Amino acid sequence: MNLNSIPAFQDNYIWVLSQDDGRCLIVDPGEAAPVLRAVADNQWQPVAILLTHHHHDHVGGVKELKEHFPELVVYGPEETQDKGTTQVIKEGDKLHVLGCEFSVIFTPGHTSGHVCYFSAPYLLSGDTLFSGGCGRLFEGTPAQMYQSLQKLSALPDQTIVCCAHEYTLANMKFALSVLPDDPAVNDYFMEVKELRAKNQKTLPVILKNERKINVFLRTDDADFISKIPRETNLQQPEQRFAWLRSKKDDF
Ligand code: ZN
Ligand code: FE
Repeated sequence: MNLNSIPAFQDNYIWVLSQDDGRCLIVDPGEAAPVLRAVADNQWQPVAILLTHHHHDHVGGVKELKEHFPELVVYGPEETQDKGTTQVIKEGDKLHVLGCEFSVIFTPGHTSGHVCYFSAPYLLSGDTLFSGGCGRLFEGTPAQMYQSLQKLSALPDQTIVCCAHEYTLANMKFALSVLPDDPAVNDYFMEVKELRAKNQKTLPVILKNERKINVFLRTDDADFISKIPRETNLQQPEQRFAWLRSKKDDF
């Protein structure tokens, strides 16, 4: 499969996986117009849509795309049922699309029914895992989001993480405020700053690197633990994650 990303709105990416014969699947089309342009430019034939969660910037283009391509199969979790989904999927399901198998990984936290999709080496992480960060907790609890990120972090080192937003620079500014002396965080911040100054994409990213620079994946790491004020006395990783997430909310 070939990986492509289409920018949408201010900072969304709509990921497209395509085969050499032109068949493709579209992930979280928040709007239809940029997808229709890319489909025409590349002479793709869309066969499926994968939805990660119900937010408008991820599902807003589904109805219009279905009008253009009535055969489209739209996979999504239960919370997307009224957003044009034709096949409701859940944790552990295996989808067969474009001749590849996609595993559904239930990752509640950002919303209560959020899912990610994995077909090696690609992880479509929606608004759960961002480069350098993670999604805001709109519906789920910190403990749920912590568990969701643990599941994603356990995927193979060479996993290619395709996040739904270009939030990397802001995330790394926050990461630097937490771990100002960390060499990996500093190096990646500089790299991302240069890419964004040239208006280039920072995504996708490799999971092996993400585990080093993403503080939300480092809540068990001694350097991180040493930065938490002692008086908070946070014993559990879920508690440390909750502390970190609320710090980011106020950053
Ligand atoms: Zn969202
Ligand atoms: Fe989003």
